[in-house]
Amino acid sequence: MQLYNSLSHKKEEFIPREEGKVGMYTCGPTVYHYAHIGNLRSYIMEDILEKYLRFSGLDVKRVMNITDVGHLTSDGDTGDDKMLKGAKREHKTVMEIAKFYTDAFFDDCKKLNIKTPDVVVPATTYIDEFIRVISVLMEKGYAYEAGGNIYFDTSKLENYYVFNDFKEEDLAVGVREGVEEDSNKKNKADFVLWFTKSKFDAQELKWESPWGVGYPGWHIECSCISMKNLGEYLDIHCGGIDNAFPHHTNEIAQSEAYLGHKWCNYWFHVLHLNTSSGKMSKSSGEFLTVSLLEEKGYNPLVYRFFCLQSHYRKSLVFDWENLDNAKTAYEKILDKIIPLLAEKEEDINTSEYDRLMKVFCDALDNDLNTAMAVTAVYDVLKSDANSATKLALIKKFDEVLGLDFIANAQKKADTTESDIIPQEILDLAEQRKQAKKDKNFALADEIRNKISELGFNIKDTRQGTEITRK
Ligand code: AMP
Ligand code: ZN
Repeated sequence: MQLYNSLSHKKEEFIPREEGKVGMYTCGPTVYHYAHIGNLRSYIMEDILEKYLRFSGLDVKRVMNITDVGHLTSDGDTGDDKMLKGAKREHKTVMEIAKFYTDAFFDDCKKLNIKTPDVVVPATTYIDEFIRVISVLMEKGYAYEAGGNIYFDTSKLENYYVFNDFKEEDLAVGVREGVEEDSNKKNKADFVLWFTKSKFDAQELKWESPWGVGYPGWHIECSCISMKNLGEYLDIHCGGIDNAFPHHTNEIAQSEAYLGHKWCNYWFHVLHLNTSSGKMSKSSGEFLTVSLLEEKGYNPLVYRFFCLQSHYRKSLVFDWENLDNAKTAYEKILDKIIPLLAEKEEDINTSEYDRLMKVFCDALDNDLNTAMAVTAVYDVLKSDANSATKLALIKKFDEVLGLDFIANAQKKADTTESDIIPQEILDLAEQRKQAKKDKNFALADEIRNKISELGFNIKDTRQGTEITRK
């Protein structure tokens, strides 16, 4: 498989260090709010990568952290801890916030058919490990204490800016406009491994350490969690492109300083999902979530399909019209699968199977070209292969694509005319929802009665409004 490696800036053959085995690490979510669908684009594409590596016969061990401490509002060392910000916003403790949004994250993943990694580690459970690695960095002379904090000394490295697409002067932490410079740092790019003298006294979670009571920096979390679970050599590390600098750059600096050798061979970065108005962000007001997609009547897998239609190394613009187009295309595929389900048993035509399977694998072998892999689904449906061959291929492709093609086609086939709710009723339900929102309960009741007169029941549940024929 050819995969683009951000470290070498080119497509390379993906060759794991140990034959047949892959160690894969993914930066997990910062659990101070719901994941937005941009975050989830990264997790969807990483999921496809993991599934395709498994599909190709490799034994993958995937590890992910949960960032529940240390990630400040700037990705560098300034601002509040995001977790503390979330806790203040909701008048809860940091741990309550972490639990709630970790669960919400995995609920969203489930709806999007994103597999849970083999090992998931909340950062707060690894404090001793962070302290141990930081102590070694101190002993080796890669870290220093200043003003109470422990910093990594980037001047000790020959090449700190490993993803050298970035210009040093543009990216050095502390030189961006509006970011306060930390006068404790010996070099502008140095970063905090352990905070004690944070100006944010309100930090809720603090631990004893040889350098005083405090808490870890965000970057050390991923290095330690990866090395502890996947060993000294990592095959592939994933994340959204915003993590390349400073987060991944710092992970490499401290891991390699600690280990004394190269750490990770391949870096897989997913480009951002943006809206037409710009970057999506959890901290700026309203943002797009899986629940919002569901509220608007979309099956979350339509969003997964939307993501697969584009290459992970291109930024993607989200708008509702594009999502509608994806929905229509997805439904059309289901419609084409439905007649295949009714066919009698036949033998699979192996030469056709192999030919079409090759189209699919060639697409994914070419730097995970999911858009071409989706085209391979159309190729199957258009081909002269018999129904059994088509179904077998689509079932197999779906092990990677995760779009529940067969199950959803079956569901659609089982949906009889009488289950379909007429548009007139859906419109009335929408008007009732608005009336309730406006606190016009008299109008809401009036609309409910009208819906009832037309032969339908309407019920509000925790999952949303349920309409059934009487
Ligand atoms: P966070 O929860 O902020 O730590 O981010 C979780 C993951 O989402 C990281 O891999 C980020 O790089 C990634 N990410 C953040 N914003 C976006 C976006 N707009 N599109 C795609 N991935 C993103
Ligand atoms: Zn990370």
